[in-house]
Amino acid sequence: MIPMVDLKAQYDDLRSEIDQGLADVLDTAQFILGPNVQAFEKEAAEYLGVSHAVSCASGTDALHLALAASGVCPGDEVITSPFTFIATAEAIRYVGATPVFVDIEPDTFNLDLDQVAGAITSRTRAVIPVHLFGQPVDMPRLQKLAAEHDLLLIEDCAQSWGATRAGTQTGAFGVSGCYSFFPSKNLGCYGDGGMVGTNSDKLAEELQVLRNHGSRERYHHHVIGFNSRLDEMQAAILRAKLKRIDSYNDGRRRAAHAYSAALKDVPGITVPFEDPNGYHVYHQYTLLADYRDTVLDALRARDIGCAVYYPIPLHRQEVFQEQYANVSLPVAEATSRRCLSLPMFPELTEQQISEVVETVRKTAGG
Ligand SMILES: *Cc1c(COP(=O)(O)O)cnc(C)c1O
Repeated sequence: MIPMVDLKAQYDDLRSEIDQGLADVLDTAQFILGPNVQAFEKEAAEYLGVSHAVSCASGTDALHLALAASGVCPGDEVITSPFTFIATAEAIRYVGATPVFVDIEPDTFNLDLDQVAGAITSRTRAVIPVHLFGQPVDMPRLQKLAAEHDLLLIEDCAQSWGATRAGTQTGAFGVSGCYSFFPSKNLGCYGDGGMVGTNSDKLAEELQVLRNHGSRERYHHHVIGFNSRLDEMQAAILRAKLKRIDSYNDGRRRAAHAYSAALKDVPGITVPFEDPNGYHVYHQYTLLADYRDTVLDALRARDIGCAVYYPIPLHRQEVFQEQYANVSLPVAEATSRRCLSLPMFPELTEQQISEVVETVRKTAGG
C-alpha cells in the first residue's frame, strides 16, 4: 500500500509542536482572528515577499474575495485555464463575471500565453493564471501582457506555495495571489483554509473588511461582506508547517526527479516537463501515458495511490457544457485523456518510488 499523499507521516514528525499549538489555542479560548492568525499572516507575507497576507476560510474564498476586492463584476470577462480545479472558474462566476477559457501548453499544462492575447476583448478585466501542479507560469511575460492591456493579474497559487520564477514567489507578481491550505495541498492545514497575498495596502484593507462581514469596526457594516476566516487552530498548524515548507518542497522535488530519471525512457510515458526558468514544487507529479487507464488499473490493483487530475476540462463540465459547446480546446482535452498523477509527498522513500516505477514500467505499453 502506497498512499497518494501521506499526511500521517508529516503529523508524526510535527506531533509535539502541533499538539502544543492546539492546546495553547484551547487554553486561551481565542478561536477566531486571534494571535495565531495574526502571526501566521505576518510570517506568510514575509515568506512570500509581499506586504500583506489576508487569511480566509478556503482557497475558493481567496479567489472569490480577491476578485470581489478588485471590483470584478457582472459584464466582465476573466481569462483562465480550462485545465484546473473547478474552484478557479466558480470564483469568477460568484462575482457575476464570465470565465473565458484559453487552451494550455502541452508540456507545462499551464495557460498558453501565445493564445491569451488573442482572447482579450473590450470586456476582459482580469487574467487568472494557475500555477498547476506547482509549476510556475512565465509571470514576467504575462505581467507585460497584462500591463499592455490594462488587465488585473490574479494568481491561483493553490498548488504552488514556494514555487518561484525569476526569484519571485508565485502570487507576488499579480495584484493578488490566492492560496489554499486544503489538507492535501503542499502547504496544508487540518481542515479548510486559504489566503490572499498582495502588495497593495488598499486591497489588503478591502480584503480584511470583506472576509469579516463588511466590517471595519465591530458591529458597523458599510458593505455586504462574507464570513470567511481562517481559524486559530488551523493557523497554529500552518505556523508549524510553514517553518519546514522549503524542506517539504525539496523532498517533493527529490521524489519527482527520481520518478523522472526512472521513467523518462519508458515507451508510452511522457514524464513531466520542468521549465528550467522556474522552481517547480511538484504539488503533483503528473505524467502522460498512452495507455493511461491500463496503468491506472495496475496501480490500483497493487493498492498504489494514483489519480487523474483532471479527467474533464472545465469547458466540458456539465455545469458549463451548454455555454461552451462551441469552444474547442484540443490540448486540454487531449491532456485530460492521458494525464496520470503518481503518489507525491515529501516523505516518499526510495523503496516506495521503485515499487511505483516498476508497476508503471510493466504496464506502460498497454
Ligand atoms: C484546491 C484548489 C483550489 C481551491 O482551494 P480550496 O481550499 O479547496 O477551496 C483552487 N484552485 C486550485 C488550482 C486548486 O487546486
